[in-house]
Amino acid sequence: MGLNKLTIHELRSLLDKKEISPLDILSDIYKQIEKYEDKIKSYITITRQLSYEMAEIAEKSILKGEISALTGIPIAVKDNICTKGILTTCASKILHNYIPPYESTVTERLLKQKYVLLGKTNLDEFAMGSSTENSSFHITRNPWNYQCVPGGSSGGSAAATAADECIASIGSDTGGSIRQPASFCGVVGLKPTYGRVSRFGLIAFASSLDQIGPITKDVTDAAIMLNSIAGYDPLDSTSAPLQIRDYLLSLDKDIKGLKIGVPKEFFIEGINKEVYNIVTLAIRRLESLGAIVVEISLPHTDYAVAVYYIIATSEASSNLARYDGVKYGLRVSGKDLLEMYMNTRAKGFGEEVKRRIMLGTYTLSAGYYDAYYRKAQQVRTLIMKDFQKAFESVDVIVTPTSPTPAFKVGEKTSDPLQMYLSDIFTISVNLAGVPAISIPCGFTSDNLPVGLQIIGKSFDEETILRVAYNYEQSEDFFKKRAL
Ligand code: GLN
Repeated sequence: MGLNKLTIHELRSLLDKKEISPLDILSDIYKQIEKYEDKIKSYITITRQLSYEMAEIAEKSILKGEISALTGIPIAVKDNICTKGILTTCASKILHNYIPPYESTVTERLLKQKYVLLGKTNLDEFAMGSSTENSSFHITRNPWNYQCVPGGSSGGSAAATAADECIASIGSDTGGSIRQPASFCGVVGLKPTYGRVSRFGLIAFASSLDQIGPITKDVTDAAIMLNSIAGYDPLDSTSAPLQIRDYLLSLDKDIKGLKIGVPKEFFIEGINKEVYNIVTLAIRRLESLGAIVVEISLPHTDYAVAVYYIIATSEASSNLARYDGVKYGLRVSGKDLLEMYMNTRAKGFGEEVKRRIMLGTYTLSAGYYDAYYRKAQQVRTLIMKDFQKAFESVDVIVTPTSPTPAFKVGEKTSDPLQMYLSDIFTISVNLAGVPAISIPCGFTSDNLPVGLQIIGKSFDEETILRVAYNYEQSEDFFKKRAL
């Protein structure tokens, strides 16, 4: 029946009318997985038997009339989010056998709604990367072109969504890891405001930047997913004690008179010509929908990548100190405790993770702290202030999500700096803590999707979703499927 190709809201109405059951959706999903997963490899773990059990529970619930937005909807979860009793590896050898004894708040909320878990998706090890090539298990391929990467680090979640191997997925975003893969795979990726969604049970990479969010097939589904996962959580001290409004309510309000800022610093040299042209057309389309487009400046944009790679690596070096072979995960023995630590970490971490631990340990070390870490924090404040100032005169800011479409597998693996630059447009958003969404806005001549990034004020996910929805309804890029 091809139910795997539908969205959450389309399936919801079929489920609620009892025209289909959660088991019908699941069987179409697994047909798709059997057909394509060998080539794409979105998943690290597929929880097939559990999926069927969960679908049956959902079906009973629906028959009893106990229905939530996600009851019976099959969802894939990034493998750095803890699921109780289910292998959670972070795509690292050091956690190759880690079975969490607890559930993350986000998946706990999905469980309450009786969702159906499909499995845990591939990522760059510890979410460090932009291509999913840093996974210690396997690489994931882009469903639009198997020669290309799906982006990263939530590449498995984005590829599974684009390949209709799930209905929607959950990712995490520290410097672009939801938005950039969403843009490479032609799907919608939402990074909520820092504090909007609980990080409890998300395996930490850089705690002042990490945020969980949805990857979906359209904007309505992004709003539905956000409704389900957002909100205060006493288990995460950084989660914001704010009321959540229903994000579906204002989606279809028009955008006449809304002010859209286009930062001149983001339309830089080096940006791919086709991306530039496609995003420029998208901005014109927003204008034709009644928005007022103005040029703005975010003057400290140039420093964002450097600042990010100091702060993120510093936090990572501290967060990853817990993997010592004692408490959980891999242990490689040695003649004494120190040698056991060293052997475990040497065998357990991949090259990129080691690079980041070394960089972060260096920037935090006595004598260098002031020159690097403190300086980076000061510049981070300036970047935040750039956004605050810009948002005094505009409602949202629009940019390309990534300077290029999906690149080829292997193209950037030998040049970490080139890889880091792939997130040049997404990183400052995490540094400022504000929300942003990536939506498909066209295709290159090679039929690769291009993403438009819409950035909002802190805790104003409502407006970015509204702009995204208005754009989506005026174009049909969302209808085009990869497979
Ligand atoms: N690509 C960026 C990095 O490598 C961002 C990763 C992320 O958002 N998790 O750090």
